[in-house]
Amino acid sequence: RAKDKGKACYEVFDQAMYLETLKNIELEHNLRLALPQNELTLHYQPIISLKHGTLTGFEALIRWQHPQQGLIFPGDFISIAEDTGLIVPIGYWVLKEACQQLHSWQQKFAQIPGIDSFKISVNLASQQIQEANFIEKLDLILAETGLDAGCLRLEITERVLVDSGQNTQQNLAEIKRRQIKLSIDDFGTGYSSLSYLHCLPINNLKIDRSFINNLNIDTESFEIVKTIVTLAHSLNMDAIAEGVETIEQVNHLKALGCEYAQGYLYAKPLEVKDIELNFLNNYAKTSDFLGACF
Ligand code: C2E
Ligand code: MG
Ligand code: MG
Ligand code: MG
Repeated sequence: RAKDKGKACYEVFDQAMYLETLKNIELEHNLRLALPQNELTLHYQPIISLKHGTLTGFEALIRWQHPQQGLIFPGDFISIAEDTGLIVPIGYWVLKEACQQLHSWQQKFAQIPGIDSFKISVNLASQQIQEANFIEKLDLILAETGLDAGCLRLEITERVLVDSGQNTQQNLAEIKRRQIKLSIDDFGTGYSSLSYLHCLPINNLKIDRSFINNLNIDTESFEIVKTIVTLAHSLNMDAIAEGVETIEQVNHLKALGCEYAQGYLYAKPLEVKDIELNFLNNYAKTSDFLGACF
């Protein structure tokens, strides 16, 4: 009996695995087509200055408009894109699209004060920054889109720095030379040592959402956020809080001297049409970020 049951379990397990594999193969196949079929799209989330209450730019976040399954979020396809190497061509598409978008907003909404120094933040996978010709392609994208290099902010995670090789080091140096900004994303969740922080051209640390989430609830998270902000400042960097959802969190972050914030409190990542209609239009009229949001 036990033996029969064991065997049945095996079969169920095998079938589940089989279906999972099948699903991934199908997803991979479809993802390969997503780029040529124009199914990828970027949403943009505003990033604001906590000190001045002004808009300072946006983070570009990829979505996949699947013909049957609807909108798919990066959590459900970025790891497949990384495993298959598809992240490299997808990443260049993201970079070009995001640069082009900010440049076009800078022209379309030229009346917004400071829009020429708005930044567009783009997430990079480790495979991208390891490419030998990354800088060559980046220069081409900047030339083609007309975006000022100083308006681009690249986000990498601590993991990128851990598995970085020679190309990465060279690419990071070239990024700095162009005055492109560099952020460490999800800071505090990685497993790298702190020793790289002062020898790399990093402009800001993005405090992971998990710490911001618990900011009011437990003193431990408060201390962690405080430590990250202090660390950033002592290394001449700025801090950006991600996943800000409440006014209480904002008050804590302001008290700690955190420079920037993004999160659902201000706006969710929005499609281009919504950014333009609801957001940049209002902001251009009122110059009041909070007025434009709420
Ligand atoms: P991330 O770079 O840390 O982006 C922040 C994530 O937090 C986004 O999820 C955003 O929608 C979400 N978020 C922002 N504010 C709030 C908030 O107040 N509350 C909550 N609950 N969530 C908030 P999203 O768009 O699903 O992206 C997930 C991750 O996928 C990103 O994390 C990034 O690591 C990756 N990703 C997104 N776009 C790209 C891309 O173009 N290339 C690469 N390589 N990775 C990307
Ligand atoms: Mg990011
Ligand atoms: Mg992040
Ligand atoms: Mg995160």
